[in-house]
Amino acid sequence: MTTTTASHAADLVAALLFILSLAGLSQHRTSRAGVVYGIAGMTLALVATVVLAAQSITAGAVTLILVAMALGAAIGIWRARQVEMTQMPELIAVLHSFVGLAAVLVGWNSYLEVEAHGAAQKHVTSDLLGIHHAEVFIGIFIGAVTFTGSIVAFLKLSARIKSQPLVLPGKNALNVAALAAFVALTVWFTISPNLGLMIAVTVLALVLGWHLVASIGGGDMPVVVSMLNSYSGWAAAAAGFLLDNNLLIVTGALVGSSGAYLSYIMCKAMNRSFISVIAGGFGIEAPTSGGEEQGEHREVQAQEVAELLTQARSVVITPGYGMAVAQAQHPVAELTRRLRERGVEVRFGVHPVAGRLPGHMNVLLAEAKVPYDIVLEMDEINDDLADTSVVLVIGANDTVNPAAEEDPTSPIAGMPVLRVWEAEQVVVFKRSMASGYAGVQNPLFFRENSGMLFGDAKQSVEDILRALPADPRAQAPSEAALAR
Ligand code: NDP
Repeated sequence: MTTTTASHAADLVAALLFILSLAGLSQHRTSRAGVVYGIAGMTLALVATVVLAAQSITAGAVTLILVAMALGAAIGIWRARQVEMTQMPELIAVLHSFVGLAAVLVGWNSYLEVEAHGAAQKHVTSDLLGIHHAEVFIGIFIGAVTFTGSIVAFLKLSARIKSQPLVLPGKNALNVAALAAFVALTVWFTISPNLGLMIAVTVLALVLGWHLVASIGGGDMPVVVSMLNSYSGWAAAAAGFLLDNNLLIVTGALVGSSGAYLSYIMCKAMNRSFISVIAGGFGIEAPTSGGEEQGEHREVQAQEVAELLTQARSVVITPGYGMAVAQAQHPVAELTRRLRERGVEVRFGVHPVAGRLPGHMNVLLAEAKVPYDIVLEMDEINDDLADTSVVLVIGANDTVNPAAEEDPTSPIAGMPVLRVWEAEQVVVFKRSMASGYAGVQNPLFFRENSGMLFGDAKQSVEDILRALPADPRAQAPSEAALAR
């Protein structure tokens, strides 16, 4: 078997491993296997690519590739070990920007190579030259949109810039004009390629990527992240065409289509128009209500909450981003165990975009060994909330905001939320009256049946655990869990 055939066979196996990886990642129980398949596929792909490349390039160039790979791996491992779970989305956004930048560089390199050495050297026949030019242009366009879009997403997710949407006058017309200009430039470039057009499309796409994501507001950011994931896949596929690398085309298409499908599912869950979000908030008007306070709130103490819980028949816990920040999942799991031992029915209600990445709460609760069967999706629990004695809102805010249902002028109007206010009593765990990610004030805090338990969520839950009166049927409280 020649090296080329072996390399093609390796590509095929790697592509299958990536498909198995995606299938594995779609469920809790198989997700670890999914990660292992992904690592195996990527290792195989890298080895096959380098071995094939080594046939046609100098030993010095191979050494350079290996050094670059070792450096990249070292930086990747260092960052992955450091990153907090709550910083995951911003890390993902930065990684997407690298894919975008790589696609732009591949496009430029491909153009300059054909210019310098002629089409024959690039194995492009004159008939296909127009297609090659279009590939260059499309690759650069998708890559540059992904690059700047991901940088804006990173800045928003890491709170370096405000998450509110940027509303330029005529923003939809600007986006449409940019797309029309891209089509016109592509036609022009395939007829008469030149450096000026290359610069023009790069600048146009960089500005469009920035504007598209800057125009999308707080509550829609989860969809934006998965949409950029999709764009990065298409950018990689475009680079695959230019580099004549089948595996890159297949992998890019897998990432592109799965990311697009995830964006679609998330839009449905958030009651948002898919087209509107991918078109940079097309049709979404500037919000008219903001972060102003809306009356008096009632403060409660851990002791009172402990008493309330011991008298409760049923308790629903709705966790959010604050539980992740406080790392309160272990004491929350301990509280759940103690209440269930007392005969209280305890369940969790998880909103599809709670936290800062899809499945964020499920991962934390699984880590704390909360039984899967009491962790319910928003749609599964919403109708039961009216018949619940106490809801504990632990570090959630936007996902339990009644304004989404009741105030059509709210920036999150129409987004489905957990209807926690329908319960007999609601206790909100947070540190202040600050708004959530979308920057919208929450009328829940001012309802008569709501009490605010201020402080770090982990500390507050531990205080409740200490204040819970001993139950003769229960085992001794786990000090280990309290100390965690
Ligand atoms: P929010 O971001 O709306 O609110 C979190 C709340 O937690 C804040 O009000 C904050 O209040 C509180 N908090 C923070 N730290 C602590 C702490 N240590 N102890 C106690 N409370 C704390 O969270 P939700 O989960 O309800 O909503 C998620 C939001 O993030 C949505 O708007 C969603 O669109 C967006 N988003 C989601 C992504 C996803 O994929 N899931 C990705 C990107 C964005 P205070 O400061 O007063 O303590």
